[in-house]
Amino acid sequence: MTALERKKGKDLRGQQVFLRPEESSAPTPSPRQSTTLSEQLQDALLQLAAVVDAHSLQATLRDNVHELLPGTECVCVYTLEGESRLLCNDPPHELPQEGKIRSIADQLKRCQCAGLPPSELPEKYRTCLAAPLPAHRKALIIPLSNQDRSKLAAVILVGCNPLSDQNEQHLSLLEKHASVACARVQGLQTCYQRPPPSPSPLQSHNALLHLNVSEKDYCELDRNILQLCGELYDLDAASLQLKVINYLQQQTRSQCCCLLLVSEDNHQLFCQVVGDKVLEEEVSFPLMFGRFGQVVEKKKSITLQDISAVRKHCFAYFFFFFLSVVFFSDILSSFCQEERRQLSSMLGCEISSMLCVPVTSRATGQVVALACTFNKEGGQRHTEADEHTIQHCFCYTSTVLTSTLAFQKEQKLKVECQALLQVAKNLFTHLDDVSVLLQEIIVEARNLSGAEICSVFLLDRVSHELVAKVFDGGVVSDEENEFRIPADQGIAGHVATTGQILNIKDAYSHPLFYRGVDDSTGFRTRNILCFPIKDENSEVIGVAELVNKMNGPWFNRFDEDLATAFSIYCGISIAHSLLYKRVNEASFRSTLANEMMMYHMKVSEEEVSKLLMPGIDPVHEIHSCFAEFTYTPRSLPDDTTPMCTLSMFEDMGFINTYKIEMKTLARFCLMVKKGYRDPPYHNWMHAFSVSHFCYLLYKNLGLSNYLEEIEILALFVSCMCHDLDHRGTNNSFQVDSQSVLAALYSSEGSVMERHHFAQAIAILNTHGCNIFEKFNRKDYQRMLDLMRDIILATDLAHHLRIFKDLQKMADDGYNPKNRTHRSMLLCLLMTSCDLSDQTKNWKTTRKIAELIYKEFFSQGDLEKAMGNRPSEMMDREKAYIPELQISFMEHIAMPIYKLLSELFPGALELYERVAANREQWTKVSHKFTIRGLPSNNSLDFLDQEYELLQAQGAFGSDHCLNGCLDNTEEGGGQ
Ligand SMILES: [Zn+2]
Repeated sequence: MTALERKKGKDLRGQQVFLRPEESSAPTPSPRQSTTLSEQLQDALLQLAAVVDAHSLQATLRDNVHELLPGTECVCVYTLEGESRLLCNDPPHELPQEGKIRSIADQLKRCQCAGLPPSELPEKYRTCLAAPLPAHRKALIIPLSNQDRSKLAAVILVGCNPLSDQNEQHLSLLEKHASVACARVQGLQTCYQRPPPSPSPLQSHNALLHLNVSEKDYCELDRNILQLCGELYDLDAASLQLKVINYLQQQTRSQCCCLLLVSEDNHQLFCQVVGDKVLEEEVSFPLMFGRFGQVVEKKKSITLQDISAVRKHCFAYFFFFFLSVVFFSDILSSFCQEERRQLSSMLGCEISSMLCVPVTSRATGQVVALACTFNKEGGQRHTEADEHTIQHCFCYTSTVLTSTLAFQKEQKLKVECQALLQVAKNLFTHLDDVSVLLQEIIVEARNLSGAEICSVFLLDRVSHELVAKVFDGGVVSDEENEFRIPADQGIAGHVATTGQILNIKDAYSHPLFYRGVDDSTGFRTRNILCFPIKDENSEVIGVAELVNKMNGPWFNRFDEDLATAFSIYCGISIAHSLLYKRVNEASFRSTLANEMMMYHMKVSEEEVSKLLMPGIDPVHEIHSCFAEFTYTPRSLPDDTTPMCTLSMFEDMGFINTYKIEMKTLARFCLMVKKGYRDPPYHNWMHAFSVSHFCYLLYKNLGLSNYLEEIEILALFVSCMCHDLDHRGTNNSFQVDSQSVLAALYSSEGSVMERHHFAQAIAILNTHGCNIFEKFNRKDYQRMLDLMRDIILATDLAHHLRIFKDLQKMADDGYNPKNRTHRSMLLCLLMTSCDLSDQTKNWKTTRKIAELIYKEFFSQGDLEKAMGNRPSEMMDREKAYIPELQISFMEHIAMPIYKLLSELFPGALELYERVAANREQWTKVSHKFTIRGLPSNNSLDFLDQEYELLQAQGAFGSDHCLNGCLDNTEEGGGQ
């Protein structure tokens, strides 16, 4: 190659270049042949000159050789990739690094031989190239060198006929041009093809800049960047930054480098690493203005030279200076000595020059960071090469950096989430005291956001004021000292009114900010994050105000998100705390009410003495038949019932066995009597007659053989208490009318029964009324458990639920040692007592029906008044009493006494009497032409027939069928 050629080649690198054959030293071929060959050669060289990439270079060389050489059967072209790899793309394979072909090629001289080693060739080329070849065939190895002929740039293997001299000449010419093309392609490859072919803003930058960077530099740079990339394995973004920054410092020969990360909202710059130092706390700067803003916006680098004239002491200070002084020089004066000192201590260094290069995300094309290098060695200026080095570096490292940052952000979010959950836990453990809760909220809010000060206000809807009961750190316990502001004024007021979060970056410039407090206290409010606290219904119940972000210029988007999440927890916990307070108050009021009720129910000492004075009447003195099943306790006058109760206690031996204090027992009985209201049926007389029936069971059925003593006592006391405070309405009425009792008990079912039990406990707990006070702890608990189970069993729904089991127990045979049997039997006995009116004579059962329907119909009337439709038996316009009674007796009462008689043979008479009463209902039903009750509420007209039968002696001469007193209206006896 001549000097001229070499010069041309060098100068025109990157352009379409070819050398005309006339310029070559080759002898002129014969005219005809020459024209053809010359044309062929020219075409070939033109094609070669247009080649810009390795792929088309290989294809073009293949075509050219085919055209120029005789009998060409195959051409295999390898081009250089990287330092020494020779690659062919047809088929894709590599020339072995060692071997015969390689060693020949390395000599950079064309070689013609009788075949190549088959092991060094791919299958495709073995037929035409592998040794041994027929005598008329040759294998050619054509090495192409780089321009100064020092290094291998490509290798062509050809299988063809032996070459003529002219062939050799043409080939030499082709080789020269091919070498130029190889050099060009490699040059372009460095600029264009690496990094890989996805388009990015940086690549175009590289393309523009490549002319100023020599190939040698590129190879060096690639080696270095490869090494750097190999080291970027850390999961921690700061360590990655350290490595990249260190690389940049070395490559650009700068004293110091740093990366300014751009926040997602493009409003802030963060700095985590400066030089070889990871900052203890990341520093952030606003990015609203100035040159940095321009770098981000225009994606163009800036260079600043010779800025040491302004004396600076550290990088961070320089940033502030850069941002505030260069563009807002008036702010400089406000830079106080203290801030200078603090910033200087962060990092000390004098700045003379700076290069700031934008780093773009290859995924989004957004500027994600600014790379800054300071003070080039020897006071030199930063060059375009430095800029390119930085861009080149981030071309490879920005992805790993951004993904690591994203990973770290996610980790941070996870930690914040855990913190929030912890906060929620803390908040919910302080529900009992709103003040303590608010204090907790303040501490947590400050910790989460890094605010200097936090205040929480609760909205007082009555006075329309915001009330701060808790100031930062302290509780205002004194009502007079609590701080009140109008609910529609100032920043907090605005947030309370709009319900929107307010992030104020500069408090003094905000129209709602009131400077007066700062002026008087000397405190300086820089920025505020004020957010509403809402309850579950999204009603604002308070406002929290965070003041002065500690490690940043102001509260950022992240703080806003955190505040929003936090405020939800706050809202729920405050709402619950207030509710808890109300519930507490309600429970307190209810206790008070109960105390008041008990006070008014209070039995006077006089009453107790009067009851006990004559001593307890023996039962036979009450009535000779008092202990017989046929006896009707309802015949007793109301005022004798307490004494009768005492008599029964005495007769059953309870007073003696359980060492019950007489005064306590008397007080208890009087209290229980007073604990009943006066509805037609569910009154004290009902309770008394039920208790009396229990006594009858004890006396007639030998209960002691079936139950434990304590169980019998529990049954008797339960009978006394089982309908305490009954209001004459049933369970479904409580639920439908949303009564207080339903609110208390409906979730557990058996609303009224639970209330009766609660009332019994309330009486036992009343001073001087606890007949079980001498019980040991275990027996006392047992007694209360038994009473609960027995009283709950008075719900007929419960009875119907266990009826199958009761039947099974009767069929299997009762076992008194079986605890389940005993508790089931207790339930059956209780139900038997409760319905015992049905076991008495006709007049009683008829009278009871009168009372029950009177009570039912008044509930029905209430339901109608509430706009509900009562059930048929409660509806005086629909109820047909004989039918309802017969149904009740057949489906409820008779099976109960049937079962009882199966367990206790002595109970058979009870069943027979219930059955007889049922018969009587059938007999009288023809007289019953009305629905509901007659206007006088009396069913007396049903008795004539019965009295006639009685007169005829149809029921024998049972003198104890003393009957229910006909003339009692309320069932209370005479
Ligand atoms: Zn009852």
